[in-house]
Amino acid sequence: MFTAPKLLALLTSLFATVLLTLVIVAPRGEADTPSIDSPSVDKVDLRLLHEAVSGHQVVDGQYQEDVLEVASTIPASLQPALKGTKFVNGCHPWATKELGSCAFGTYDPEGWDSDDTHGHEWTNTIWVSSQAVRTGKASDVVLHEVGHAVVHNLFDDCYFPQQAEVSVKELLLQSFAHGGANPAELLADAFVVAFSTHSDDLHTHYFDDFNFQASKEVLLKLRAAVWLCSK
Ligand SMILES: [Zn+2]
Repeated sequence: MFTAPKLLALLTSLFATVLLTLVIVAPRGEADTPSIDSPSVDKVDLRLLHEAVSGHQVVDGQYQEDVLEVASTIPASLQPALKGTKFVNGCHPWATKELGSCAFGTYDPEGWDSDDTHGHEWTNTIWVSSQAVRTGKASDVVLHEVGHAVVHNLFDDCYFPQQAEVSVKELLLQSFAHGGANPAELLADAFVVAFSTHSDDLHTHYFDDFNFQASKEVLLKLRAAVWLCSK
């Protein structure tokens, strides 16, 4: 659970760069962990979302079908983290307010609005911007956001057998410790490297920005963690 000072520190580092294009909405407190018995990718009710966020005009929807098509290509091994997760083509309201522009992607487990209230209709959503679709980066953006969802839903209360005192989430974040970058964002980018199936240049915003590379050992550990924590 984040305490208020930790959250402030996290937010400060999260938005330190104006080039930030991939964000997770930082959870304040524990979210309900979805059950993982039935992997599925649900459709979002755009009509409801339009009503919910019409004041911010953040739901685009022009590429909603494209986003759903990309979501349907998410590897089966990652789907246990996505129970009930809905995919939205548009700009997440809270992230848009914080960034001052539309994030390429946002994972929001708690439905945050631009007025810092949460629990809104878009709880448990992944948002993908139209620009991400138009530039051909949607599949990598989705994998980055799914990475946030996996960490949030599967890694927090999961332990490697030989390291039972520290959660898989903490161990992996340690592997991505960095002087400048938010390790949670580097870890999410590692999902793109570990699970992307296309052969084009990968869109890994934080790896590129901080000239970071994940070792083969860390990528192996990440895949092992997904396997272990999905069971
Ligand atoms: Zn992110």
